Amino acid sequence: MSLRNEMHVIPPVAKVLAALAFLGIAIGLIAIAIPQSRDTLGLPRGGQVALGIFAAAIPAIYILLLGYIYGDARRRHMRYIVWTLLAIFIPNAIGIILFFILRDPLPVFCPHCGASVKAAFTFCPQCATALQPVCAQCGRAVERNWSHCPHCGTATSTGKPGAVSPPPTPASPQPL
Ligand SMILES: [Zn+2]
Ligand SMILES: [Zn+2]
Repeated sequence: MSLRNEMHVIPPVAKVLAALAFLGIAIGLIAIAIPQSRDTLGLPRGGQVALGIFAAAIPAIYILLLGYIYGDARRRHMRYIVWTLLAIFIPNAIGIILFFILRDPLPVFCPHCGASVKAAFTFCPQCATALQPVCAQCGRAVERNWSHCPHCGTATSTGKPGAVSPPPTPASPQPL
């Protein structure tokens, strides 16, 4: 997953807000606040500009991070509004940290209809295509390296080829 793809997750409105916040704060600090402050009197002009840019980048990065959480939670079929609010309102960035610990895995795409579905799903909720190998006896998901189905005990692929059915192609493919 490249950084470019990850930046694509951030909604455009968050990028615009981050840019406006950065420009507004940087200009306000460099033009007004820093030259008038007693603390920065001894600082050369270049240092004042660098300080203003650095201080303005922090809220801009914060807005981008919140936008990323919104878009990433949405992409992962999580409650994205709730997670964005938690990231904003739980203090000390704990909401942000919790999101990155608890976020669901990235969705997979159904090979038949292309729907974006949760990685844990066995069947596509849109077209019922099997997304993982299933037990030939009870129809529940099994992993490829299991010799027996954990739900009904039926032997799977080991010694019995074909017991684990590969994802079947539906008899009547729906037109897209
Ligand atoms: Zn599907
Ligand atoms: Zn079974």
